[in-house]
This record gives sequence, structure tokens and C-alpha cells, in this order.
Amino acid sequence: MRESASKLDVRLWWLQAVLGLCLLCGCGAAEFDYAAARERMVSQQLTVPGRDITNARVLSAMRKVPRHELVPASLRAQAYGDYPLPIGFDQTISQPFIVAFMTEKLDPKSTDKVLEIGTGSGYQAAVLAELVREVYTIEIVEPLARRAEADLKRLGYTNVFVRAGDGYKGWPEASPFDAIIVTCAPERVPQALVDQLREDGRMIIPVGPAGNQELYLLRKKSGAVERRAVLPVRFVPMTGGKAVDSKR
Ligand code: SAH
Repeated sequence: MRESASKLDVRLWWLQAVLGLCLLCGCGAAEFDYAAARERMVSQQLTVPGRDITNARVLSAMRKVPRHELVPASLRAQAYGDYPLPIGFDQTISQPFIVAFMTEKLDPKSTDKVLEIGTGSGYQAAVLAELVREVYTIEIVEPLARRAEADLKRLGYTNVFVRAGDGYKGWPEASPFDAIIVTCAPERVPQALVDQLREDGRMIIPVGPAGNQELYLLRKKSGAVERRAVLPVRFVPMTGGKAVDSKR
């Protein structure tokens, strides 16, 4: 009687061990799926002809940042799709290709200090944080700013500084910036941002009314700004104060 009870114990122990292993493998597989989804995102959306993202550091940041951790839980399975996603408060996280394209155009250096206007989910800030020394990012919707700040901290980014406020004014105390990225569209380039860009610095910014926006790459040369249109785009409008537009 005693012997058969101990046999049963052993069998139960084995059953538990096998179940535990299955659970562990299941969790690992789910994590592996996200990594595989990131690989597919890079090979099918970023390096394909017509998209042509080639900067190896940018591609490795895109392979690394867990985008699924920065979208609403109900949309995680779609996090690596070739489209923007809603993040609440009528705002969106940009399509992965647009994030990679803008990041590549900024030509990020490991010593750079970068300003972002429009933190949103914090994803673009995380991609930049992999590539540059410091990222300063401003979000006008306070709860979005606080959520992105908490998420970036949770993911271990210590070189991103988040401010809730109006990006039109930039972040004068932290200026000058080596590069500025704007991820919402003003009708004109805010003068404060031009002022806070260092000589020879780069700015990537969508400009224009909804439905007719162009992404511009600006470079500050001898105090003046050279600008080049690089891609027609569709971004959410930049809200906030408009009294300080430049003439561009
Ligand atoms: N970069 C984001 C996507 C941004 S969507 C990401 O990776 O998820 C654009 C964001 O710009 C929105 O969250 C919107 O609230 C914000 N925004 C709009 N006008 C702004 C302003 N004047 N200052 C700062 N943020 C602004």
C-alpha cells in the first residue's frame, strides 16, 4: 500500500515537472516570437528595395527595441506590422518604416544629444536611446508623457528625459542639440527649434496641413537653414502655441 502511494507520488512529480517544462517552453516561444517578428519587420519592411534602410546601427536598434512593450496590450500581436497603431488620446505610434527612415536621416552619432517633439508611446525615443548619448523628449498630452516615462524606465533606458509640455518652445536649458526629430506636424518650422539646433546640426520634421505634409531634412549652416524635402508623409498635427513660427 505504502509502496504504491510512493509510486503515485513519483508519477505526480514527473507530471508536474513535464507540465512545468511545457509552460517554460511556451513562455520562451512567445518571447522568441516577438524577436522573430522584429527580424521579419527588418527584412520585409526596412531593407527591401524601395524602403532601403541601410544604416547598420539603425537596423540593429530596430531589431532590439521591444515595440510590443510600448503599444496597448490588446494590440501587441500587431506591434510589428507595417502600419501605425493607436496609443490612446487620439494619438498613434508611427509605422516602423517611418521611425527607421527618420532615424537614419538624422545620422545619429553615439555622442549626440537629441531632442524629440512628440514622445507618444516612447518608441522613437527608445530607438534613439540605443544610438545616441542622450534623448530629451517632449509630449503635450500629460498622461502620455507620464506613461512613456514609466515604460522607458521599466525597459531600462536611463538616457531618456521626458517632459510634459509644449514642444513649440523646445527645451532651452538642455540646448544646443546635435539633432532634433519632430514626430507631429506643424504648419511651419518652429523658430525656437531652429535656435536650439547647434551649428551643423540636423533636424527631421514633417511640415504642412493634414493631408498635405512633406518630411523635411534641415541642416543649420552658418546660422542659416538648408532644407530638403525627403518624403510625403501623414502625421498627427502639432498642437500647442503657434506664435513663434519661423518664416520657413
Ligand atoms: N514618436 C511617437 C509618435 C508620436 S505621435 C512614438 O514613437 O510613439 C505624435 C505625438 O505628438 C502625439 O503624442 C501628440 O500628442 C504629440 N504632440 C502634438 N503636438 C505637440 C506639441 N506641441 N508638443 C509636444 N508634443 C506634441
